[in-house]
Amino acid sequence: MMWPLRRPALRWPRVPFIPGVVLALLLPVAVSNCRGTEESANPDVVLITLDTTRADHLGVYGYERPTSPRLDAFAREAVVYERAWTTAPWTLPSHASMITGKYPTSHGAHYDAKAGNTSISEVLSFVPAANFRANRLGEGEHTLAELLVERGYVTGAFAGGHWLAPEFGLMQGYQTTTAGARSLAGRPASELNTRVFAWLEQLPRDSPFHLLVNYFDAHDPYQLIEGAEPMPELMEPHPDPAIRAQIDAYDGEIRYMDHHLGELFEALKAAGRYQDSLIIVVSDHGELFGEHGQFKHGPWLYEELLRAAMIVRLPAGEAAGTRVRDAVSIVDILPIVAQEVGFVLPEGVEGVPPGRRELVVAEARPHAVALRKFGESMNRSLTSAIRWPFKLVASSRGGRDFFRLDDDPGELRPLGLGAEMESLAADLEALQASMRAPERSERAKAASSETEENLRALGYIE
Ligand SMILES: [Zn+2]
Repeated sequence: MMWPLRRPALRWPRVPFIPGVVLALLLPVAVSNCRGTEESANPDVVLITLDTTRADHLGVYGYERPTSPRLDAFAREAVVYERAWTTAPWTLPSHASMITGKYPTSHGAHYDAKAGNTSISEVLSFVPAANFRANRLGEGEHTLAELLVERGYVTGAFAGGHWLAPEFGLMQGYQTTTAGARSLAGRPASELNTRVFAWLEQLPRDSPFHLLVNYFDAHDPYQLIEGAEPMPELMEPHPDPAIRAQIDAYDGEIRYMDHHLGELFEALKAAGRYQDSLIIVVSDHGELFGEHGQFKHGPWLYEELLRAAMIVRLPAGEAAGTRVRDAVSIVDILPIVAQEVGFVLPEGVEGVPPGRRELVVAEARPHAVALRKFGESMNRSLTSAIRWPFKLVASSRGGRDFFRLDDDPGELRPLGLGAEMESLAADLEALQASMRAPERSERAKAASSETEENLRALGYIE
């Protein structure tokens, strides 16, 4: 079977792109720009996830390259969370955390080498994909989209990445969805926007909407954007030319995504659905370019993977230009939406409103491909806890690493054991003890043992 490694060539738009919805809606805009104050209790809710986008590669978070002019402009009229972290270093569990307000152990959508539920090969037609197995999000979870549908919202989700395929459960509650992207490279932002604009165009004007867009362009394979200006040289370019080329292409993809993010903002404005909307832009995890001797993302909990961009534009631009230094986690997105929309959080939500977070937690689990590539040492789960500026990374095999992130953001100098670490470890253990993995159905359990046998036959597990 073909492995569709590369997406079709991405071209930099030559002329300013005017989405159809903009043209269609420019005329009535003057009269219908505002949905009226009586509806402001139910603001439109837009959640935009920037896949694989490192916060430190965005201008708003201090990057020296012009990767994100549109996002930077948006951030100036929004609240920027300077210390935000994801809950997991890959797409499925991090998105599940955003939409359930729970950590991976609690929502259960996570790598599981023995999981019988779903493998990515059901979405992607290439053989190695069968080894990327994960539990899908359980139907018993209350998702953001379901909570909003209960309040009369019209919901739509448009995803560039394959883990947001309906097969993995993240689409629960979305009335309009894209099928899973069929190539490893995912759907480009230009294609997503075309679909989003068409959806916006047919939205009923008297119902609030919730839109989820997952831009996947920054995810590997890294690809140069045809027709785009080369990125300016970094002040300290990577010494390895191959890695330097990867970073150049990655940054170019972020700039391409940012361009389309800007077009989405313009389309929302033209539709009169921007000013009073709650708009959240967040990255789901980062990427490694040789730091710690590793590349890409998946089974580690380094800061390059966990630090997230998180930028929230409140309805009417309230608190615009605020930069918040309190620690937040992407599990706090659901409480932010609940605050603005005014719904009660479901039981079991581990997110809290910003300002109330004590501990930031992330989790990584092994997958069969990592075991095969890196050996038995990767047969471990990792859990990290941050209480700024301290970070603890604990392995299920017993190892513990402790860092002070303000002095050592690259986690290069582990600190010795001490009272700070023991206190952090105790708090993490207490939190873990409170987590309850969701019940798995009998069907899933049966499938699980069958998968285990298949994996054993293939030599992935002993
Ligand atoms: Zn992702």
